Amino acid sequence: MKVVVANAEVQDMVVVMKEGATQAQVDAVVAQLHEMGFDVHRAAGANRTVIGAVGAGHGDPALIGVRDGVHEVLRISEPYKLASRSFQRENTVITIGDVRIGGDEVVVMAGPCSAESPEQVEATAVAVKRAGAKVFRGGAFKPRSSPYSFQGLGETGLRMLSEAADRHDLKLITEVMEIAQIPVVEQFAHILQVGARNMQNYSLLRELGRVRTPVLLKRGMSATIEEWLMSAEYILSGGNMNVMLCERGIRTFESYTRNTLDISAIPVVQQLSHLPVISDPSHGTGRRDKVAAMARASVAAGADGLLVEVHCDPDHAVSDGAQSLFPKQFEQLMGELRIIAPAIGRSICVEPVARRGWGR
Ligand code: PEP
Ligand code: MN
Repeated sequence: MKVVVANAEVQDMVVVMKEGATQAQVDAVVAQLHEMGFDVHRAAGANRTVIGAVGAGHGDPALIGVRDGVHEVLRISEPYKLASRSFQRENTVITIGDVRIGGDEVVVMAGPCSAESPEQVEATAVAVKRAGAKVFRGGAFKPRSSPYSFQGLGETGLRMLSEAADRHDLKLITEVMEIAQIPVVEQFAHILQVGARNMQNYSLLRELGRVRTPVLLKRGMSATIEEWLMSAEYILSGGNMNVMLCERGIRTFESYTRNTLDISAIPVVQQLSHLPVISDPSHGTGRRDKVAAMARASVAAGADGLLVEVHCDPDHAVSDGAQSLFPKQFEQLMGELRIIAPAIGRSICVEPVARRGWGR
């Protein structure tokens, strides 16, 4: 028996409608693409409607190209489709209340590696808020290399993090490790973090495609940029378009640092994809004394945000203390970033909160 496999790489396409195309014309194109067997996704263009046709469809793109209201039909040659710049030229901006990730402002997410106690969470939240962070980070479900290490406080930790974030008007990002945790983590967090070890947990990614809470997808420690974007595609193809990517260092032959932060991945991904790119200099280096330099370099390279570990007492942290900044170091870093960001046309928490008299 001869098995014919459709070549999705050739078939997938982006249909760019003319400026001023009518809704009826757009609907007719969508209907024909559905008839051809494609999954159809619409992208938010500034002036025109852009339609992505992906999946197992067949048909002659020329049939679409001659329809009324169609400007052009482009083939998408990259294996990732919805994540690609061909599908959406404009940057994705993820809006969470008054926080916009992927816009002009560099958004800083900071906090401890893990929630340990109400006091530790509160003291760290106060410190990061005062220095200008917009999002509070902290783990409650922890992916640890050793089963004997601290595994996180679970739901109790989530509550601590969420209450502290609310008290200080911070959004919350925390990790979700498995499908069963999604409902409870979604209840408390504004952003769901997928850890490096889970970047290729495809069933988790598929399930995150079904929710609408923004997802921060960390790069796997030995993942290529293409594999990373394919993982993002799993979430996007489920319908959740609120995905940001996080470079957190990859494994190389170098052992001086915990990982090698691939700063070049920032401009590379920004060229290939419209998704916001966040840099994590904490896991990227594993050393507190190298975090600020890599954070500054990340912002200079164009990162849309940073994920930084800060602890009120890093010497006694239960996880990742060696790479966690003291509050004073974080405050100094934020001051430096406020000089670097405008040099490349970005802003960063324009006015230091401390100067507005927040509990100094
Ligand atoms: C973390 O952010 O604390 C974490 C465990 O990160 P990663 O998945 O990058 O190791
Ligand atoms: Mn950590």
